[in-house]
Parts: sequence; C-alpha cells; structure tokens
Amino acid sequence: MTTQIPQQTDVVVIGGGPAGSSAATHLAQAGVDVVLLEKAQFPRHQVGESLIPHIWKFTDLTGVSEKIQQEGFLAKAGGITVWNDNIRQILFSDFGYRRPGLHVERDVFDHILLKHAETSGTQVFQSIAVKAVDFSDKDWPEVRYLDKRTQDNYTGTIRCQYVIDASGHSALLSGQFGTRQTISSQVNFLSLWGYFEGSRYIGVDRKSHSAAEIKTVKPVTFVMSVDGGWLWHIILRDKTSVGLVLPTEKMRGMDRHQREVFYKQTCVRLPYLSQLLESARFIEGSLQYRPDYSYYSENICGDNYYCIGDSAAFVDPIFSHGVQNALYNAAVTTLAIKESLKKKKNRSRYSQLCANRMQQFYGFSRALSLGDFGCHGVNPELVKNLMKALPPLELALILVASEMTNRSENFRQLAREAGVWDKLESRGCCRFENPP
Ligand SMILES: Cc1cc2nc3c(=O)[nH]c(=O)nc-3n(C[C@H](O)[C@H](O)[C@H](O)COP(=O)(O)OP(=O)(O)OC[C@H]3O[C@@H](n4cnc5c(N)ncnc54)[C@H](O)[C@@H]3O)c2cc1C
Repeated sequence: MTTQIPQQTDVVVIGGGPAGSSAATHLAQAGVDVVLLEKAQFPRHQVGESLIPHIWKFTDLTGVSEKIQQEGFLAKAGGITVWNDNIRQILFSDFGYRRPGLHVERDVFDHILLKHAETSGTQVFQSIAVKAVDFSDKDWPEVRYLDKRTQDNYTGTIRCQYVIDASGHSALLSGQFGTRQTISSQVNFLSLWGYFEGSRYIGVDRKSHSAAEIKTVKPVTFVMSVDGGWLWHIILRDKTSVGLVLPTEKMRGMDRHQREVFYKQTCVRLPYLSQLLESARFIEGSLQYRPDYSYYSENICGDNYYCIGDSAAFVDPIFSHGVQNALYNAAVTTLAIKESLKKKKNRSRYSQLCANRMQQFYGFSRALSLGDFGCHGVNPELVKNLMKALPPLELALILVASEMTNRSENFRQLAREAGVWDKLESRGCCRFENPP
C-alpha cells in the first residue's frame, strides 16, 4: 500500500538532493505546505564529496548541522594543489573557519538532509519521476508525474502555487523551456570518476599517509593539473574518490570499456596520484562519466517557478562550490516564496530579485573556476558587487584560492576592477618544495 500524493499543495519541490531537501525544510519550518517528489529511492549515489566549511552557515539555518556532525564524516583541513608543478596548500583555519570542511559519502549526506526535510514537515515521496509542469493556469501550475512505486506505473498530477525545480543536472524546467545553454568556451570538459579501496592520502602535514592513519592525521583534498584539465583525490571513510576532468576531445569516440582502460592507465601514469594509489584496489563497476559539463540558463525564476542548484546551472567543481551553491539557492528562493505567499501581487519582483542573487553567485563561481576558458554567462557588475560585500576573511580565502590554479584569471581581473585585489594577503597559502 503506497501513500497517496495529495492533489494540491502550496509548493512542489522536484528532486531531493541538497537543493531540494533544504528548500523544502526552510518552507516546512515556516508552516508552508510542501510536497517533495524524488525520482530515486534514497540512499542514492551522487558525486561531489568535498564540502567547504561555508556549508555550515546554511545547515545551521535549517537545523541539520548536529545530525551531520553525529554521522562522523571525515573532517578536512583544507586543500593541496599541484598545478603546473607548483605545490600550494590552503588551510581553512588560517581564514578564521572554526568548523572544518568535510569529505562525505553523498548518498549518506543527502539522505540525512532528505530525512530532515521530512521530520520538519515536508511530505516526501520517493520513486516519483516528474515528467513536466503545465503552466497554463498561472496561479495553479500542474505538475505531472510518473509513480514508479507500483507495477502499473500510475501517472498523476498535483497543483501548487509555486514549483521549485531542484532536479539536478537533468534540469527539468530549463529542458522544458529550452533555455539550457552549454558554457561556450574554447575548451569543453567532461568528467570521469571512480572509487578505490586502500588508497593512501595526503594529510594536513603535507605528507602521504596510509588509510589506517585517517583518525590521527586530518586529510586535505588533493587537486592536480593534468593534460589541460585536472584531477581530484578525496579520501572517504572506506574508499577514495578519484576523478579526472579533461578536455572532451581527449576521449572523443571512446566506448565504456575504452574509457575504463583510459582512466586506469591515467591513474597509474601520473606522479603523486600513482604513489597514493600504489597499493590501492579499483572498485570494479564504480567508474562513472559526465559529458554535459558547465551549463547555465538565463531563465531560472519566474512568477510561479524557481530553478535551484544544478538545475539552474553547473559550474566546474574545482573549488567545491556545488553543494554550497545549492544550499544558498535554497535559502534565497524560499525567502522569496514565503514573501510571495504573503503578498502575491509582488511575486514578480521577488522572483526577479532572487534570480539576480542566484545569477550573481553562479557568475562568481564561474569566473573563479573557468579562468581564461571564457566568461560566458557571467555578469561582471554582479560579481564585483558580491566581492565587495563578502566578509574580509572569506574574500581573502577565495582570493588566495584563485592563486592555486590558472583557472581564475577572469576572477582576478574582476577583483582588480572591484578594488578588492589589494586585500590579498599571502597568509594561508604557502609553497613547499618537497613532494607529498
Ligand atoms: C564530477 C563532479 C564532481 C563534483 N564535485 C563536487 C565537490 O567536490 N563538491 C561540491 O560541493 N560539489 C561537487 N559537484 C557538484 C555537486 O555534486 C552538485 O552541485 C550538487 O549535487 C547539486 O545538488 P542538487 O540538489 O542541485 O542536485 P542533485 O544532488 O543532483 O539532486 C537532484 C535530485 O533530483 C532528482 N531528480 C532528477 N530528475 C527528477 C525528476 N524528473 N523528478 C523527480 N526527481 C528528480 C535526482 O534523483 C536527485 O536526487 C560535483 C559535480 C560533478 C559532476
């Protein structure tokens, strides 16, 4: 016997990743009637395991920080990059962060957030795939879904005042509107990632450690430039995530088997990474692939809909901004919706304000992460205003991070124009000669 989905509610949230579950939590906690429809059955796999400490201010807002802490995810102290042979380290504690970044198994992390949405009062339905939204009635859009919980694949509808599209990279609404655009740049990227058991890791002391030492020496996220792209090495509690982000043409025409051979060969040929993986074992079947990289949409909010998280845009994850952006979008969107529910006549204004704030954040991440590969979809004035508004230490951390790779040339240019570049201090960013 499956629980019945209501036919009407205030807000329907499509997708239960960090963006959707946080948005639902904010609304439910404010007494708004909210239904969340999730295609998968949680826990479900998701990539994106490195979280920066900025996430805590958002998880504090929804009251889920304690549940995250209790799970005992690995606390990370910062990051180390090897970029064109320059080795650099950044430590969050040098910038006033008292709580660490995290290396999380995303199936577990996302499930905590979804369960929190439910206990906060959201009606959560899993194995429900939203197919489309009919906006012909502007006051009561109708969400059409496929119910996969039963054999007969029932299709149903639910009416609501506001739709939040948090469907991740499937970007349901921008697909329906035809507004999704791939970032146009000189180089397009794809990602290939998999998991290893028994990998060594780099610790906060810049040395390589065996996995058994993880409780005594905190890890850092390891990032390295490779063949026009970059790689990540993120140790988790019982496995290690290793990903390659490469120009698309490097793997053009390869089938699944060829991609796997290429991935394994690349992992064993690269300096540092091959040493970390020396006695590690690849987990067969774990290789995954994401070709549709870095996209955005100009139409992310309207009178009765909001696209948040990866459904609005995807930025190359080199600075681990994805989950933070998702949580930020959830916070600003739900402010706009709560106000719109009180004063419907102002809803266009609220949605426009919200769109500006979200585009500002995405533009900021894009300028930081895509460097001289292009600044498509970035509004320079919005980004400069955000730079000026950031707390000084947070800005210093980002400016220092922008020196760790050659990805942030656009960002540094905007920082100079905004007059914040002179705030760059060398603290927290050091070079060291010995390989880890
Ligand atoms: C290769 C790679 C590496 C990354 N590394 C990092 C990192 O280290 N750190 C970081 O912070 N970010 C990283 N990211 C980005 C991060 O994973 C995303 O930004 C984050 O997951 C976005 O959260 P979300 O809630 O918007 O989407 P998701 O987490 O994708 O959640 C969307 C949910 O919607 C559901 N859904 C989809 N379609 C439908 C539908 N039609 N009906 C109902 N439900 C639906 C899905 O099942 C899913 O559960 C990385 C991304 C990639 C691709």
